Parts: sequence; structure tokens; C-alpha cells
Amino acid sequence: MSRWLEVGPDNYVLTTQGSLLNTGLVVGSERALVIDTGSGPRQGREILDAVREKTQLPLVVANTHAHYDHFFGNAVFAEAGATEFWAHENCAAEIQENGDSQRRAVTTDEPEMAAGQGDNTELVVPNAIVKDQPVLVDLGGQSVTFFYLGHGHTDGDLLVGTATTLYAGDLVEQGSHPSFEDSYPEEWADVLRHVSALRHRYEFLIPGHGEPCSDQFVKTMANTMTTAVRQATQATRETPDDATKAIPILPYGPEQSRWFIRRLQETRAHH
Ligand SMILES: [Zn+2]
Repeated sequence: MSRWLEVGPDNYVLTTQGSLLNTGLVVGSERALVIDTGSGPRQGREILDAVREKTQLPLVVANTHAHYDHFFGNAVFAEAGATEFWAHENCAAEIQENGDSQRRAVTTDEPEMAAGQGDNTELVVPNAIVKDQPVLVDLGGQSVTFFYLGHGHTDGDLLVGTATTLYAGDLVEQGSHPSFEDSYPEEWADVLRHVSALRHRYEFLIPGHGEPCSDQFVKTMANTMTTAVRQATQATRETPDDATKAIPILPYGPEQSRWFIRRLQETRAHH
């Protein structure tokens, strides 16, 4: 038996092993929404089996962003009959253009997906697109709102709100450092403040990985990021030739600090 955590009426979250990915499930009277599908056919199947313990309704899928652990399981859901795959336009474009390049990340856990051989190893590119305006989707007796708050963990992070719950994807990460590889550090901190400002609207906040979070957690994450931007900016001003000097003082692990500095420089260069 899978262990779904109920977060509001007919709102659930399932944490799967490994990276502790959170998959959301919102069950209406006509359709059910699955939020994030795992790293390939193996994890996708595990998630689908868990979904089927809760509901036999037709499924709609949303991908919170274009990182492999959130969309490589899509084909399993397509095979199960899902035809509507929601994402932000930048996420869909990234999957379309560069999705294949992420296969190498799953060599150990999803060898079929890594090789692109076997059942349900094709990429399913989201076809239901969210842009800057929120989109309301009716599941029957329950509706969800897809919305976008700007650059953050990636350039295409989709948030999913229900009557009780906000599914935030990797914009919020609990239990490990945030991942900066494709991020926009300065703007991300602003997005987190925006998320935090929505606190009265939602009872539960579900991060992309880890345990449900409080508003205070999100606020702290935002403040930590703003502080890190300031520290990195100051350090790179003092030693412009060696930005890595800032790594030890940043509040993240060495690898993520390196990415943080790199992305801070890259995203500023584009302003
Ligand atoms: Zn991610």
C-alpha cells in the first residue's frame, strides 16, 4: 500500500523514495490531477499504481518544471489514458528542446529511460500551456489554479493551487539545499516572498521534495537567499577574478554555492 498524505479534502501528496519527490493528487468528481510523474517508467509506474489505489477517474497531469524527476514519468500516464499535460510555456519548450539531454541523470535508477529503450521511455512534452495569466481547470466539484510567479528555481516553475493546498514544486525544497543549476537567484527570492504572501489562501504548502512546509519556512528560505545574493555580490566585488572565494561563506553546500554564484553572474549578465 502506498502512503498518501491527505492535505485537505481530496488533496493528497505521495513521497516516493530516492529524492523524496512529492507527487500531488487532486481528485474531482469527473477527473483527477496528478502533479509530477517521477524519473522514468519505473517510478512513474509506482506513482500510477498509487494513484489507482485512490481513484479510477480519467487523469490530467501537470509538470511543475522541466527537471527529469518531475516529467520523465509522463509516458506512463499517457499510456494510462491521460491526454492533457499542463506546464508553463518555458517548461514545455525546455522539455521539447533539451529534455533528452537529461536522460544521463537517471542511469542508475531508470536504466531504460537513460537508454531511451523500452516501454514508456519516450518524452511526453506538455501540451496544455500556462503563460503569465492563471488558468483555472475544473475537475468536477473541485477546481485547481495553475499560475506562474516569474523566474525562480527555473524559468518555468508552475504553481498549483487548490481550495486548501499550494503545490509549489522545487521553488520550495525541504530537507535539502535548494538546487540552483537552472535558477535565477535574485528573482527566486522575490517569488518566495510572493508565495509567502499567499499564506492566508492555503492551509498546506507542499514542496517539490521533503515534508509540507510552514509559511515561516518559505520566508526563511527567501531571506537566506537574499542574504546569499548580498554576500556573493560583495565577495565577487572584492575578488572579481575569483568568485569561488565566496563559496565558504554562503549558506549552502559547496556544490550548490558554486552553482549559486555562477547563476547569479549569468542571470545578471542578461539583464
Ligand atoms: Zn527541480
